Amino acid sequence: MNAAAGLALQITAVALVAALLVAVIVAAAWGAKGGAGRGGGVDVERALGAATITTYERVSARAEGKAADVCAICLSEYAGGDELVRVVPACGHFFHAECGVDAWLRARQTCPLCRGGL
Ligand SMILES: [Zn+2]
Ligand SMILES: [Zn+2]
Repeated sequence: MNAAAGLALQITAVALVAALLVAVIVAAAWGAKGGAGRGGGVDVERALGAATITTYERVSARAEGKAADVCAICLSEYAGGDELVRVVPACGHFFHAECGVDAWLRARQTCPLCRGGL
């Protein structure tokens, strides 16, 4: 009986060590994924989500009067209508979706116009 109990204890210990090892590996992989090249990646991804890409027509209706009507990146006017723009959620500024604002936001995590955080 004693031998069997000892064996069971050993198996349990090995299983525990294996589980711990897996947990450490998963945690390390998770950390590497989250911190790959950019801190606070979650917020950037949220800011770049589909919710902040919309048409100029809708944004200008919502931000009437206070919004600039040129893109701060290419300095050309918005064409209006169904042109796609990216909205910075925190400040409401918007830029052409095609003008590289996504790359800017990923790299700097600030609004290109007012330098406010996302
Ligand atoms: Zn532009
Ligand atoms: Zn802004």
